[in-house]
Amino acid sequence: MIDCHVHLGAEAFRHDRDVVMERARSAGVVAMLAVTEGPEELSEVRRLAADSTVALPVLACFGLHPDRFAEDLSPPPREQIDTLIEAIRRDANQLGAIGEIGLDHFRVRSAERRRAQAALLEELAQLGKELGLALSVHARSAGRAAFFGTAARRRLEPHFYCCRKLQGGPARLQMPVRP
Ligand SMILES: [Zn+2]
Repeated sequence: MIDCHVHLGAEAFRHDRDVVMERARSAGVVAMLAVTEGPEELSEVRRLAADSTVALPVLACFGLHPDRFAEDLSPPPREQIDTLIEAIRRDANQLGAIGEIGLDHFRVRSAERRRAQAALLEELAQLGKELGLALSVHARSAGRAAFFGTAARRRLEPHFYCCRKLQGGPARLQMPVRP
């Protein structure tokens, strides 16, 4: 069993990450795909992926969480997105996927912020296609748009999606997964 979406790089896991990983290994997990929410987590996730002493192999995924476009935050500056793209290009051969990226229409309400969120998803979907990398997609109140809008509409599908869908039943969760 591979856990395809963990936040091991998050501050909240710093104090007991080894315990969490050991518990996952005991439960039958053989590898983890560790996503990043923003540039501040890139180096930690990169370090974990290179560390052979941890309980499980970790594959790093670089992304920018769609919640970062919420109205109560400053929108991610272009330099931050460029830094992310640079890191993805540099580490492409080692990455498990591009993510976490996606659409969140629960936290992000304005048309302007939703457009920016969708533009990033589309840009990174193109990059994923170019580099042969999958996407680890977050979709909240936006499943149809995330999987059948933007990237999908323009036939930019990478070879598969790892899904993090926060609403809807299991049948809908399976729908966008491509082998
Ligand atoms: Zn997540």
